[in-house]
Amino acid sequence: MKSARDTRDVLDTLEPQHPGADTELHFTTAFELLTATILSAQSTDALVNTVTPALFKRYPNARALAQATTDELEPQIHSTGFFRAKSKSLLGMAQALVEHHGGEVPNTMAALVELPGVGRKTANVVLGHALGVPGLPVDRHVLRVANRIGIAESDDPIVVEQQLCAAMPPERWTRTSDTLILHGRRICRPKPLCDQCFIVDECDYFRTVVSVERDRPVKKPKTEKPKAKPKNGRPKAGSGETRRVRKARR
Ligand code: SF4
Repeated sequence: MKSARDTRDVLDTLEPQHPGADTELHFTTAFELLTATILSAQSTDALVNTVTPALFKRYPNARALAQATTDELEPQIHSTGFFRAKSKSLLGMAQALVEHHGGEVPNTMAALVELPGVGRKTANVVLGHALGVPGLPVDRHVLRVANRIGIAESDDPIVVEQQLCAAMPPERWTRTSDTLILHGRRICRPKPLCDQCFIVDECDYFRTVVSVERDRPVKKPKTEKPKAKPKNGRPKAGSGETRRVRKARR
């Protein structure tokens, strides 16, 4: 795995490829971002953004949402998928905010992960983007891209979060996550577009996998031997061709 210094250098080079990297979820308050992030699980930010304007109008804060029922909520969030589980999480989250935090979103990881439907990744999104507290969300893109580059080394999002946080200064944590997420969505996709990547010279995956595969000599495709013609020029009895010929003769 790369040193902290090399990790910072990689991010210095990569950030200009995604200027202004930020969450793509639309929100104006921490409560709205928390709601949108819960909805974004197993969905896309673009899809969530089509649902949230009406939702935020109807439930502008935790007190309003806490009064809703799952029957009311489910049709409104149906298109984001897993709508039954998400409506329960949203109601539980809003009720817990009212009951334990005066209706406000708390600004600590410990308090956020106690809320229904809120894990470390969601908590980090809200801390970093809406509450001004450094947070480094690790989603599937961050996990894949960081491991490929060699700035992290684990399948466990918590371990990758720790490794990246140890290498980057806190004021860059959220930007680091946003940059790696956008890079994973646009360039370092499951099938990566390495020719367009700013950090191709620093990437372990490119050096050990992509370039090795490219340099491998291309095998000539095997040419099929032409089938031997029947000796008497007539097709073999019982073959499909024979049946078609017989049918045509009738
Ligand atoms: S060089 Fe390729 S594999 Fe490496 S980070 Fe860039 S796109 Fe991903």
